[in-house]
Amino acid sequence: MEPAKPCIALIAHDLKKDDMADFARQRQTALSKFRIVATGTTGGRVLEAAPDLDVTRLKSGPLGGDQQIGAMIATGEVSMLVFFIDPLSALPHDVDVKALTRLATVYDIPMALNRATAEHLIDFQ
Ligand code: PGA
Repeated sequence: MEPAKPCIALIAHDLKKDDMADFARQRQTALSKFRIVATGTTGGRVLEAAPDLDVTRLKSGPLGGDQQIGAMIATGEVSMLVFFIDPLSALPHDVDVKALTRLATVYDIPMALNRATAEHLIDFQ
């Protein structure tokens, strides 16, 4: 029996979703080694860009998706976070963003908050 694939979480704020779709398309071979969980809209964009990837869509970020991913980090289900944040816009769910990055730090999982870091992380898997 094949060992279970590690699980990576993908999230992108609205102005970063094109970038996430492009990242998923470019890195689909590397990403196919993971089970992917994603916030709702981000997951939809990833699947459009790379339909063969194994993506589970959670709730949209502002409706609790970030917190769902935080819980999955706390339980050890998610072992890597790629979160393309938008540092130039005010977000209604800013507290959730902070809580999620905090948990990724507490549990010491690899976390990329921009594309350049995400490419390094994925390429060195
Ligand atoms: P979304 O959520 O992928 O559902 O847009 C992302 C976020 O803003 O946290």
